Amino acid sequence: MSHRRPLPLSTLPRLLTTIGTIGTVLAFGARADHPREFSNPYADVQWEETSVFHGNLHTHTTYSDGLFAPYEVVDLYKKHGYHILALTDHDTDHFEARPAILYPWNDFAAIFEEIRHRTSTSWRWNRMDFGQFTGPWESRDPDQLGMLAVPGVEISRPHHIASLFCDYAGGTDSEETAFEEIARHGGLAVLLHPGRYQFEDDWYIDFYRRHSHLVGLEVYNQNDRYPEDREHWDRLLHELMPDRPVWGFAGDDMHELEHLAWNIMLFPLPHLATEPLRTSIETGAFFFYRPHHQMSPPSLEITRVTGAPQRIDLEIEGQIESVDWITFDPENGQSAVIHQGPAITIEDVPETAVYVRARIRGEQGTAYTQPFAVRPAIASALGAFQGAPLAKK
Ligand SMILES: [Zn+2]
Ligand SMILES: [Zn+2]
Repeated sequence: MSHRRPLPLSTLPRLLTTIGTIGTVLAFGARADHPREFSNPYADVQWEETSVFHGNLHTHTTYSDGLFAPYEVVDLYKKHGYHILALTDHDTDHFEARPAILYPWNDFAAIFEEIRHRTSTSWRWNRMDFGQFTGPWESRDPDQLGMLAVPGVEISRPHHIASLFCDYAGGTDSEETAFEEIARHGGLAVLLHPGRYQFEDDWYIDFYRRHSHLVGLEVYNQNDRYPEDREHWDRLLHELMPDRPVWGFAGDDMHELEHLAWNIMLFPLPHLATEPLRTSIETGAFFFYRPHHQMSPPSLEITRVTGAPQRIDLEIEGQIESVDWITFDPENGQSAVIHQGPAITIEDVPETAVYVRARIRGEQGTAYTQPFAVRPAIASALGAFQGAPLAKK
């Protein structure tokens, strides 16, 4: 199965023209006089043998405060070409009625029968019984739909946290307990829409340093409710990289139709299954894409990431307007574009940078890579060129 589109012939000349006419690129800091190198989170992707699967890992249903029944949400994402979906209802809105996650999809009908006479605690349903505002629910078979169902829940007090790949149901009011329980249940965690809160950066950094299964930060939420979340991501990366990557996530946080299909996570996988998806998420071997228009499929695709330790090359299919390499500028305390073009060498990177990430602007939307660590060139002596943090010092 291939989801690739042919490369438009006009892409390369257009890209070269674009790069040639770009204005000043911000540069800061002295050039490094000691050898450095990139780590590549995509190093283990077998590009010849992968297809790109579309995913959304943040969605709601009538199990919490969404407007659509679970099977309707599945059908909507199927209709819009998604292959991977996590239903992440708020633990605050169903926990009293049924302290369990909404999973598996084949049990939707039975779950509804279990809760139809129980009371919802959701703000949206004003303490109605589930049977008054939703149901009956139809079950869905992900295999039959060609989809992968990821078990999940949104832990919702106070900082919202996605718990994925496990059956932890939540019901705690402490982030620390939530992280410990997600780990104990074998799951992965993502801190969601940080722009909603007033926590200090150190609050995040402490959690990222102590919890290796806390894999990422949501940097696009719903219809981009918190655009400053990308700046927040860069500040955290500057503190935590090169040894502790934080992968960027883009989630629809779909409650109603106007939130649907604004964010697409792109996973290059050998086949659609939990294990390769989880590995992709743990190692940061995925991208995300934001269309200009709701419900539009990606107009560009990153088909390969290659390079030696001193260089990274992006192969991109589709119409490209610019490729910006971004890091954090500690002098200005802001995200900064430090280089443009589909390739970057280590000499292009300011000495103060501990990572770079790419933003690819196209005519119909923008794609993002995960951060590439920039570190002293000790790793090459060990023969390592991996996305995972180096354990040895
Ligand atoms: Zn939330
Ligand atoms: Zn949510």
